[in-house]
Amino acid sequence: DGLKMHFPIYSGVLRRHTGDVKAVDGVSFSIKAGETLGLVGESGCGKSTVGRALLRLYEPTAGRVIIDGQDVASLAPEDLRKKRPMMQMVFQDPQASLNPRMTLSRIISEPLDEHTDWTEAKKQDWVHELMDSVGLNRRFANRFPHEFSGGQRQRIGIARALALNPKFIVCDEPIAALDVSIQAQVVNLLEDMQEKLGLTYLFISHDLSMVRHIADRVAVMYLGKIAELSPRDDLYSRPLHPYAEALLSAVNEPDPVIAAKRRRIILKGDVPSPANPPQGCNFCTRCPKVMDICRTVKPDLIEVEANRFVACHLYPTNLAAGSTGASEAT
Ligand code: SF4
Ligand code: MG
Repeated sequence: DGLKMHFPIYSGVLRRHTGDVKAVDGVSFSIKAGETLGLVGESGCGKSTVGRALLRLYEPTAGRVIIDGQDVASLAPEDLRKKRPMMQMVFQDPQASLNPRMTLSRIISEPLDEHTDWTEAKKQDWVHELMDSVGLNRRFANRFPHEFSGGQRQRIGIARALALNPKFIVCDEPIAALDVSIQAQVVNLLEDMQEKLGLTYLFISHDLSMVRHIADRVAVMYLGKIAELSPRDDLYSRPLHPYAEALLSAVNEPDPVIAAKRRRIILKGDVPSPANPPQGCNFCTRCPKVMDICRTVKPDLIEVEANRFVACHLYPTNLAAGSTGASEAT
């Protein structure tokens, strides 16, 4: 709710604070239990930063993160430690996120050392069960990460994330570093685990086809803000926000009726710097449908159709809702 993650910029010999990179600049959404929310956008739009701030791997600059009734963003360190088991992360690069000097068994059981008082035997039994469920042969327990392929390493990362029986998992580009032939296997594994364990996912990706496969609803981010948040099928068949429309126009459309109507939209110019975003709509410097009001007034993310949230002045309800900026301008 209102999540912001600003990183200060210091310049000159005096290291004076000269501004902030607004990586995430006022983002609000909810994820229902058991749901997969896809979070998409070009690299640098702030999607990974949202994922890390949700799990408080970063300290958010502002906003609340309510997980299971508690505001994780304001928990004291000891309370956060108690909450940690229920929220986990699967990282993009399994190579970089696994300690090369630890055996697979140690890697998977490490979270248990901190959060349980189980005996070694009990931990080993659980590690074996986890290995079974992610499709890793138990015989591999004493091997090291470099002995495994990329896909197998991601299975290790998933087993580790599941070790403490989490409820909520942030998957940050979990397949981006894998061969295309392996990607589907890992996504299927994540889906199987979700069904079996009742997990809730935030699935961060720039792969719009994969997100279409796995997500129930999808949030599209641009320059630190959510442009549109819609149910998956609505978004892919009829995107409402001009940026979502442009982004999706580049995706292969399997439905021939939709494909026939779709034309590729090529955006001009570059994404502005998050240290100096436009005064009005963040997309106004590149939007094919830009209007005067867009350059001065920021649109709020509001529900313009049932269950469809859009931040854009093209939808008059935005003005009717009395967005803060709009009332200033009138
Ligand atoms: Fe384009 Fe204006 Fe809508 Fe922003 S508010 S997306 S600039 S039409
Ligand atoms: Mg990223």
